[in-house]
Amino acid sequence: MIIDTHAHLDFPDYESDLILTLQNAKHAGVERVINVGIDLPSSRKSIELSEEINKKSGLPKIFAGVGIHPNHASENADDVFGEIESLANHENVVAIGETGLDYYRDYSSPDDQKRLFRKHIELALKLDLPVIIHNREATDDCLDILAEYAGRNLKGVIHCYSSDKDHAKKFLKLGMYISFTGTVTYPNAKKLREALKCVPTDRLLLETDCPFLAPQSKRGKRNEPSYLKYVIPLMAETYDLSENDIEHVTSNNARLLFGLGLETPKAEIAYVIRNSLYLNITNKCPNDCIFCERKTFPYVKGHYLKLENEPSIDELIAAIGDPSGYDEVVFCGFGEPTERLDVVKSVAKYLKDKGVRVRLDTNGLGNLVNGRSISAELKGLIDHICVSLNSNLQEQYDALCKPAFGDRSYPELLKFIKEAKDAIPNTLVSVVDMPDVDVEACRKIADDCGVSFRLRKYNDTGFKNDSQHLAL
Ligand code: SF4
Ligand SMILES: [Zn+2]
Repeated sequence: MIIDTHAHLDFPDYESDLILTLQNAKHAGVERVINVGIDLPSSRKSIELSEEINKKSGLPKIFAGVGIHPNHASENADDVFGEIESLANHENVVAIGETGLDYYRDYSSPDDQKRLFRKHIELALKLDLPVIIHNREATDDCLDILAEYAGRNLKGVIHCYSSDKDHAKKFLKLGMYISFTGTVTYPNAKKLREALKCVPTDRLLLETDCPFLAPQSKRGKRNEPSYLKYVIPLMAETYDLSENDIEHVTSNNARLLFGLGLETPKAEIAYVIRNSLYLNITNKCPNDCIFCERKTFPYVKGHYLKLENEPSIDELIAAIGDPSGYDEVVFCGFGEPTERLDVVKSVAKYLKDKGVRVRLDTNGLGNLVNGRSISAELKGLIDHICVSLNSNLQEQYDALCKPAFGDRSYPELLKFIKEAKDAIPNTLVSVVDMPDVDVEACRKIADDCGVSFRLRKYNDTGFKNDSQHLAL
């Protein structure tokens, strides 16, 4: 599913072929479009469009944003703002905006723009809706205004992102999502692509801002929601993910931010990222790492993982289906797989009998969990094991990972790495580059044990993407 979070389909550009445009969008996989108002008439039209189109079948569902663009801030914006407020209560309205600041054009004074921006934010807070923010050459003021509302649970997106990576990090720290238009595909848009790289996938949204800003292969033409298919490949390449992964994670982000009539997903026990199948077999874990977001954000690349029940072996095998097309099948998921060692062994045996490559991502505490050395039991069943080391120092490991087994954990982890090396063809240890972790000392431990090493990026915007031992 693809979601276009910012379109202006009420503009005259679509007068003659709106339905065809929406059919093309549906054909390209676009299931939801947010039509965004720029003034009172277009906010009304956005709602009317959503009412009209959502009665028809075979088209994407339309939702509305209502607001007054900063370029119109010096018109009669204050007088009509009450009407925007009334419109915002309509059931198809999912956002307040677009609002924000635009110093590139001098259609409205900065003071009028700032005043109106704050009004939109207050309304969004009152109605618990996200804000859609337009920022053009006004980044510092935009950041300052958003900072005034820090700690008040303001949600929103910086639409058509046009600033650099350092500013992107600041917007992310303020809790904002970031969306890019077709401009990110332009050959000279190096700065934008740098900014894109620092946006974690769980804060990324897709948008066209159509009819404007068609992607490079359609540049100069009228943009439309189906053209998102020309932007998604660049995102997939940037994040080293599949196009399907980008569609999945951005749609889930759009659902989390705007709702869009989409249901909360059920926990997945088998899910695909790139061309690997991941198995999610338990919620249990003996650690409580400070960088693990299981409790607050139980998603990985848009897949919801918090299980209601632990799946049986039969349920897992049914969920796996035909595994022959995957690069590998990985035991990973929400918790620590060795909490259910028997399940790992049975399902791995099933997969090995079918000639499938099997990987286990683990915190390396399986010996303590099971009360015995387990590596030999994995011989012939697991081809590749990734163990989270996290520190070269016991004290630091205990502080970072808060292991339930206490100070027995770190020595047992080191022992497990050595045992795994003897039992499993490929053993890799990983470290998250948390501040103060001595990465080189960790690398040396891996070298001394004769195993591979991998550094995993800690997201320096103050939150992280994935469960740490999802060694993607
Ligand atoms: S990061 Fe992994 S080991 Fe740490 S608490 Fe989360 S699931 Fe457990
Ligand atoms: Zn717009």
